[in-house]
Amino acid sequence: MAFSYWESTEWLEGHDLIVIGGGIVGLSAALQAKKMRPKWKVAVVERDPFGGGGSTKNAGFACFGSTQELMHDRMQIGDKSALALLKKRIDGLKLLRMTLGDASIGYRPCGSLEIVRKHSTFHAPTSAYLKGINEWAASATGTAETFQSATADHLVGIAEDAIEGAVFSPLEGAIDTGKMMRSMRQRVQEAGVDLLFGLEVIATETDLAGHRIHIKRSGPSGAEDSRWIQVPHLIIATNAFAQDLLPECDVKPQKNRVLVTEPIKNLQFDKTVHMDAGYLYVRNIADRMLIGGGRHWKLRNNEVLEKALLEVLHTLWPQTKNASLDSKWTGVLGIGLSREPIVARVQSGCVAAVKMGGMGVAIGMQIGQDSVALLLSD
Ligand SMILES: Cc1cc2nc3c(=O)[nH]c(=O)nc-3n(C[C@H](O)[C@H](O)[C@H](O)COP(=O)(O)OP(=O)(O)OC[C@H]3O[C@@H](n4cnc5c(N)ncnc54)[C@H](O)[C@@H]3O)c2cc1C
Repeated sequence: MAFSYWESTEWLEGHDLIVIGGGIVGLSAALQAKKMRPKWKVAVVERDPFGGGGSTKNAGFACFGSTQELMHDRMQIGDKSALALLKKRIDGLKLLRMTLGDASIGYRPCGSLEIVRKHSTFHAPTSAYLKGINEWAASATGTAETFQSATADHLVGIAEDAIEGAVFSPLEGAIDTGKMMRSMRQRVQEAGVDLLFGLEVIATETDLAGHRIHIKRSGPSGAEDSRWIQVPHLIIATNAFAQDLLPECDVKPQKNRVLVTEPIKNLQFDKTVHMDAGYLYVRNIADRMLIGGGRHWKLRNNEVLEKALLEVLHTLWPQTKNASLDSKWTGVLGIGLSREPIVARVQSGCVAAVKMGGMGVAIGMQIGQDSVALLLSD
């Protein structure tokens, strides 16, 4: 489908900045760029009508890491860097809530549980372990009680005989992912950014005149049109798919399966839950239950994976046993050797902001802003 004269002159020419990727990071970067450079013509180029990455497919945890995930970060990147990463997630969540407003993102301050399942390979937390992690986290979270031993009140709705231990954090919550992304897009459009959805960037090039991106639009019956666009500034926010344009980047796509039940009568549960060091997650969405993850089981077949996820759900939340499934989907995480996102200069005038891992809701908006700060510091 050929670009018309009008499409070309109005939307495909004269940009000061193009952001590739319309997820939370790309939209946040575009919004921040407009704030810092109001006269710039800014566009976000996105290949999928809704966004094809994690931002519209995630579980909606407003989370900064369970104790097991934080301990893993500390061992992998050291106490200081892990604390800085935790602070970035906390700040990112605050930024998201402040920018869009709790009502617009459907934020619920429901708290989170970290559950150790019976017969799993994970261990129940001791009070010394909680004391140690609370002391370490306090300067980032602003409280001495980031994590607490869960009480019976926190565990209402859960089969207590199926768990070995549980930790509660009052600081985490849940959002409505759809509302959050709708609100982000509205905010970006109000700021005057062009949202060019349905265009794929198939290559980028840099020469003395700046950057060039090769865009492609696919139309009915395989008809397509493509062209090169010249632009002085570029931000690549394609997360899991970063290696398509930046082959050297330490990011790999990793599939994640999510299941949501039909409504459950008198559902007794209202929290977000992490299990198995964050590999498994469960929450309610009003009167439905969502479960996802399980990539540590390394099950390639979706049917087998779903069966294993449902077994966990039914064992821990007996009320879900007779509920059929309403929705199931697969999203793609961008992961690398560590959980630290990449914000890096690729060339002068070109920055990459990718590898959000499983906590991009918390950190994504902050990373978008960081990418603009780096771009403008050229
Ligand atoms: C199933 C699942 C559950 C998750 N649950 C949570 C959670 O509960 N809490 C949490 O904090 N995080 C969660 N995450 C992670 C979180 O969703 C991501 O970290 C975050 O959305 C990443 O945002 P992003 O903007 O970097 O990337 P994305 O949202 O992945 O956006 C990248 C965009 O780039 C586009 N793109 C890629 N290549 C091109 C190209 N060549 N041309 C044009 N466009 C391109 C893609 O279509 C995509 O829309 C989850 C992720 C998944 C998959």
